Amino acid sequence: MKILITNDDGIRAPGLMALRAALLPLGEVLTIAPERPRSACGHAITLHKPLRLMPVELPDGGRGFAINGFPADCIALGVSEHLGGRPDIIISGINLGPNLGVDMTYSGTVAAAREGAICGLPSFAISVASYEACDFRPAAEFAYNLARAVLERGLPPGAFLNVNVPPIPSSEIRGVMYTRQSRIRYSNRIERRTDPRGGSYYWLTGDRLDHGGQPDADGEAIEQNHISVTPVRLDLTDETLLADLPSWNLRWPDKVR
Ligand code: MN
Repeated sequence: MKILITNDDGIRAPGLMALRAALLPLGEVLTIAPERPRSACGHAITLHKPLRLMPVELPDGGRGFAINGFPADCIALGVSEHLGGRPDIIISGINLGPNLGVDMTYSGTVAAAREGAICGLPSFAISVASYEACDFRPAAEFAYNLARAVLERGLPPGAFLNVNVPPIPSSEIRGVMYTRQSRIRYSNRIERRTDPRGGSYYWLTGDRLDHGGQPDADGEAIEQNHISVTPVRLDLTDETLLADLPSWNLRWPDKVR
């Protein structure tokens, strides 16, 4: 079995090592990650400069690769013939920090799993829903279980999974909830600050807004001390709006008024 793992927290991140350790019993674990933290890089890819692949010795004594690019680049390289061809499964994480609601759009962790789905391979992203240094063992254990299930059952084309694990001991996790993406988003406040020379600079901040009390959504699962598993599609089409748009009566060609 060949497993490709990556993350957006960088090749030295403890979450990546915890994931690797959990998956090693399943087979070969090809480990490729950004050389430095890339959280919130979204689905960025490197098109306009050389992509360098640097062999590194991992803390467990194994070999991995650091790249000067983004998580989605790691997947593109990791599935290529340069690194032995297509893996059986792709797993991204374990991210330090939740990937709930709109986080999924900004997340490099989720983007790597999405890139895996674009490549036509079964993929999932996994995150611990805390920004504090935490115990990755419950998430690592679940990643192992889920990897086995995905390898056995596969995933439909164009779909992948986004997993969030509550930051609590295994014994306090109450179970697994299958969820939809919540409406969790941020207020996106931009603060203007002053540098030591009197110039202005800006800092993107933002408070998490209420997730709207959706009982079947990712945020609620975490609040209820459950592991959240959200099936995600590559297809971004809004079906309701697609059905409504013809009523707008847009015409082409038409006279300019
Ligand atoms: Mn991250």
